Amino acid sequence: MNCLGIESTAHTFGIAIVTTKGKVLSNTKKVFTTKTGGMIPAKVADFHVANCDQVLADALKQAKLKLKDIDLISYSAAPGIGHSLRIGAMFARSLAVNLDKPIVGVNHCIAHLEIGKLMTKAKNPVLLYASGANTQVIAYEGKKYRIFGETLDIGVGNFIDAFARELELGFPGGPKIEKLALKSKNYIELPYVVKGMDVSFGGILTNLKQKIKSGKFKKEDLCYSTQETVFAMLLEVSERAMAHCEKNELLLGGGVACNKRLQQMADKMCKERKAKSFVPENQYLVDNAAMIAWQGILQHKAGEITRIEDAVIRPYERTDDVVINYLE
Ligand code: AMP
Ligand code: MG
Repeated sequence: MNCLGIESTAHTFGIAIVTTKGKVLSNTKKVFTTKTGGMIPAKVADFHVANCDQVLADALKQAKLKLKDIDLISYSAAPGIGHSLRIGAMFARSLAVNLDKPIVGVNHCIAHLEIGKLMTKAKNPVLLYASGANTQVIAYEGKKYRIFGETLDIGVGNFIDAFARELELGFPGGPKIEKLALKSKNYIELPYVVKGMDVSFGGILTNLKQKIKSGKFKKEDLCYSTQETVFAMLLEVSERAMAHCEKNELLLGGGVACNKRLQQMADKMCKERKAKSFVPENQYLVDNAAMIAWQGILQHKAGEITRIEDAVIRPYERTDDVVINYLE
């Protein structure tokens, strides 16, 4: 059976085709970018409308399939930017109706976790989901993926991008900060903000802005110190979640997890507590449709089908709102 998954929670419009056995036949996308400034929701929606047909054609071509070979449609129903989500949901509904195939709406954050499990063979991990808009430490307990820690303000990726904007590095800032950080080993004291199991980045950003304005610090040192500080915060919370849940696997997900220093620190923390750290390849860390297709398969196997009139979007749904029917 082939599931066609559609991702459209934010900047990425993606379509992928994945088999019941978890083989990714295609994973295609177009990503909205800007030279200056951030994402304006209505403009992102226009971008998705303009690109959806092409992305579909690319996905079918890459998989060497025709629309008639598709047995199931899944789409990201939550969480995300309403304008973006709506385009993916509409596209999914029209495909499902035209092809007369079942449709399943899925939660994007949970899909990050499940594709990581599929690709790395991690069995029951704690997920550090570090992306642009989201920063959560998630683990499975009693029919739900529960959030053990999260950001109290902005996502770590948005924080890194805002810092990069201050340094006039452009968007996305993460890879550029990572490159500059490699040129320094000079740690400059920054606020370290862990509150219980949660993290917060607003104060660090203000502190960095002041440091940049003062002109007393080198870019490279600030990039290095920022990475060391915020990645340590994320891993402190992840480690405590692992101890609390008695889990010995850490899985990384989200675009920020492409960062080699974060991967290295995760590995070190896990080795010290005789646990294992897992990182899927970059195409499954960033927003992608393969994870939406795979999540559709998992839910459909458990008997879930969304009625077409219920195939709506839930921009504010939280990871722990969703009951997981396909796991014990
Ligand atoms: P996502 O929202 O999961 O698609 O991830 C996008 C975010 O990941 C953006 O905020 C990027 O700046 C960030 N990002 C991408 N690559 C890296 C990297 N190598 N280091 C840190 N952040 C990164
Ligand atoms: Mg994401």
